[in-house]
Amino acid sequence: MIPFSPPRIDDKIINEVTDALKSGWITTGPKTKLFEKKIASYCNVSYVLAVNSWTTGAELLLYWFGVKEGDEVIVPVYTYCATANIVVHRGAKVIMVDVTSDFGIDISKVEKHITSKTKAIIPVDVGGLPICYDELKEIVNKKAIKEKFNSQSENQQKLGRIMILSDAAHSFGAKYKGLKVGSEVDFTVFSFHAVKNLTTAEGGAICINLPKPFDNAEVYKQLNTLSLHGQNKDALAKTQKGSWEYDVIDAGFKCNMTDILASIGLVEFNRYETETLPVRKRIFKEYSDLLQKYDWATIPHFIDENRESSYHLYLLRIKDITLEERNLIIQKIFNQDVSVNVHYKPLPLLSYYKGLGYNMKDFPIANSLWECEISLPVYFSLTLNQVKEVVSAVVKAVEKVKK
Ligand SMILES: *Cc1c(COP(=O)(O)O)cnc(C)c1O
Repeated sequence: MIPFSPPRIDDKIINEVTDALKSGWITTGPKTKLFEKKIASYCNVSYVLAVNSWTTGAELLLYWFGVKEGDEVIVPVYTYCATANIVVHRGAKVIMVDVTSDFGIDISKVEKHITSKTKAIIPVDVGGLPICYDELKEIVNKKAIKEKFNSQSENQQKLGRIMILSDAAHSFGAKYKGLKVGSEVDFTVFSFHAVKNLTTAEGGAICINLPKPFDNAEVYKQLNTLSLHGQNKDALAKTQKGSWEYDVIDAGFKCNMTDILASIGLVEFNRYETETLPVRKRIFKEYSDLLQKYDWATIPHFIDENRESSYHLYLLRIKDITLEERNLIIQKIFNQDVSVNVHYKPLPLLSYYKGLGYNMKDFPIANSLWECEISLPVYFSLTLNQVKEVVSAVVKAVEKVKK
């Protein structure tokens, strides 16, 4: 069976984790702080906070910004549920926007969804392809849009406009206008979940990139404190002689990354640019070369003059098929011992969001994308022969179903 995306666990990872365990320091400590510094320099920002998942990190940011009941947050309809769930957790309303044919939020439709209640926009780099950040930034910086913004917290007042929080769960290592993503918008949050390009088993990281008058060093400190219950001293600081006393300045979250997980991240990081990305890129290219000749195949878009994907998900689409046919094709691919997946079932199709009244009729592009989408396996140890096997399984399945 060809799996979909197994993690790369080898002796290097095992040794580094063992080193963390043997060091006697297993929670947040030197390895986590080193991991943060490495990500910051790779992503062209001064401060990065490592956390225990994308979800907790991103929700922490909504909390920090003061998003609450009565507010609205704009998200694309085509994403994993986490993007919207964190908005629900804060008591705010999820405003869904349709996407374009490359799976990213349709920026031309964002403006008409902005109201005086809009506090944040969370675009998603689906599959690893960055959205056009500059176009989205232009919208939130428009005079009329800024005038509509109703600040209700100190940080909202300071920013003076809608916050952009990039869901970069897929796009660590992707490029926008020649730079690795991370320094385009206010906050960029990565996921290091087990199936992501770079993993720490579970984990995430926040790139802090606020404009003046914010002091990003200060914001790092605030977020770090908020990730530890609002406690003003972390476990390491408390080990200093006689330094037992601490205060709690807010009812914060508990979402710090541990050194055990950061040790996986450090090994993954050190080989990301030299091994992980080139292999993923080669797999993408091979899939595209092999599938191109079939007129039923829509090849995913992963590079153009401003953007280059992190090659996270190979989002293949099959032309002119129904949802039932897509599902049948997937069954026939699995029957040939190849694992594939679907990214994503749009939010309104999930019972919770359907129950809130969201309806796919309002999102025709997302609907047309999801009905014919099949994600192919991409991972480090997938050989080019296996890529051929995958393609052959897909071709056989499609040709049987389409006849
Ligand atoms: C994986 C994923 C998340 C959630 O990441 P966690 O680290 O598991 O919390 C959020 N958004 C998208 C688009 C994802 O794929």
